[in-house]
Amino acid sequence: MAKKSALAERLDEVRARIEAAAARAKRDPKDVTLVAVTKTATPEMIREIVSLGVTDLGEGRVQQLVQRASQMNEAGSRRKAMGDDAAKGESTAKPPAWHMVGHLQRNKVKPLLPLIACVQSIDSLRLAEEIDTGAARLGRKVNVMLQLNASEEPQKFGVAIGAATHLGEQIATMPNVQLVGLMTMAELTDDEKSIRTAFRRTREVFEEMRWHKTGGPAFRHLSMGMTHDFEIAIEEGATMVRIGTALFGSEAQVPEGEDE
Ligand SMILES: *Cc1c(COP(=O)(O)O)cnc(C)c1O
Repeated sequence: MAKKSALAERLDEVRARIEAAAARAKRDPKDVTLVAVTKTATPEMIREIVSLGVTDLGEGRVQQLVQRASQMNEAGSRRKAMGDDAAKGESTAKPPAWHMVGHLQRNKVKPLLPLIACVQSIDSLRLAEEIDTGAARLGRKVNVMLQLNASEEPQKFGVAIGAATHLGEQIATMPNVQLVGLMTMAELTDDEKSIRTAFRRTREVFEEMRWHKTGGPAFRHLSMGMTHDFEIAIEEGATMVRIGTALFGSEAQVPEGEDE
């Protein structure tokens, strides 16, 4: 058998770490979805990771997401049209679901909507309304998550913990967005306790909203955890982890062993 690529090995490792963290928390690793954040990935790496079974991809910026998602769509249909065997294999796999994880301005919503599976970074009513209106125009429903500023860093995007449930209820009434969960980023720190606190607070809001049935049965995702803290996030109940650096390096095509 051919030697595994560096990317395939890193993916194996990330999956093993997800499984180990789930086992520690007595959770089923199948309940944790890996979102591969492609900021530093090349188009080839993105295609490879999808062929390795990763179903969900994330981007932090609209322009990047639009570019990458359309590139993949084009490459897929071009190779299919040429009767490429590999492409035939690919065509049976579902196309990846793209998640917007970075801050989103209202005037950037429009190009995103036809390509996006989920906007994880909703931080205002007005942004949710913009998406609702745009989705209605396209005749579709768009999944969204509310981003919480659980670490309460002033420079960080996201809704304050205290404002989350009310905003969530308002979003849940919109006909063309579906509230599917909460997203948060912990502080970039080695202080495990403060990371855990941010995740726990987010989980508490999540449980409270579920108790109130905000968003209904579709409201079931806690998107928390990145390269430096995803194991803690899984221990604290994450159902989705967003991982970039551990898969693709901290800059495009930088070999593994990078600092994080
Ligand atoms: C970049 C980014 C990630 C991935 O971060 P890594 O540390 O590279 O794993 C996850 N979530 C958000 C919101 C991001 O912007």
